[in-house]
Amino acid sequence: MGLLEGKEDLKVLVEKLNFKEKVERSKALISEAYKKYGDSLVVANSLGKDSVVVWDLAKRVDPKIRGFVVTTRFKPPETIKFMNEIVAKYPETKVYKSDAETPPELYKSDPDRCCDILKVEPVKRAIDEMGVKCWVTGLRCTEGRTRTDYKEIEERDAGLTKLNPILIWKEREVWQYLALYGVKVNPLYGEGYRSLGCSPCTKITTGDNERAGRWIGTSKCGGECGIHTRPLKSI
Ligand code: SF4
Repeated sequence: MGLLEGKEDLKVLVEKLNFKEKVERSKALISEAYKKYGDSLVVANSLGKDSVVVWDLAKRVDPKIRGFVVTTRFKPPETIKFMNEIVAKYPETKVYKSDAETPPELYKSDPDRCCDILKVEPVKRAIDEMGVKCWVTGLRCTEGRTRTDYKEIEERDAGLTKLNPILIWKEREVWQYLALYGVKVNPLYGEGYRSLGCSPCTKITTGDNERAGRWIGTSKCGGECGIHTRPLKSI
């Protein structure tokens, strides 16, 4: 049975598989999907720790695998510098950004709308322009309350498959991989952040919830920007 059939109980696998088995499983998932989708498989790199693990795994499967980054006018300078380093090293990474005008401090008054304009729209454009049939993400089911019901392979939009190859990894295993394989991360993690986003919507927190520092003080607190919850294909 191929891994892409997705028949296994992921909650069991989170606890049952050891680190090495998870690494092998993730690589096998990417490899199977790359055989199936070829160049229409593309990694969405958010520049966070989970994404850089997925990017590193994908490069081990095949150096030709392409990626895209969505950035916004509100990303911290450290993240922009980190993004520029990644793009210089991997020119097969395309950068997407929205220049649409937004009302002042829309991130305070309507963060969902702000994310729709600055994040979801550029992801849609990337998927369209790069001819993506399978996008690969760094989602993990242990990361927060909004991320518990995903599958390793899923089709939330008709004609667009989403592969979540490290879905069953724990936060500790992500750091284990980054340390063992010497993968560089955004230096903001060194300041104490556990989940990275735009400057006005990201704070350092110390509780158990990894995403608790996102959108503090809004209805979106600890939530999602929308790229994993909104439709991404217009047709
Ligand atoms: S994270 Fe904040 S600033 Fe960035 S797009 Fe979303 S609401 Fe706007």
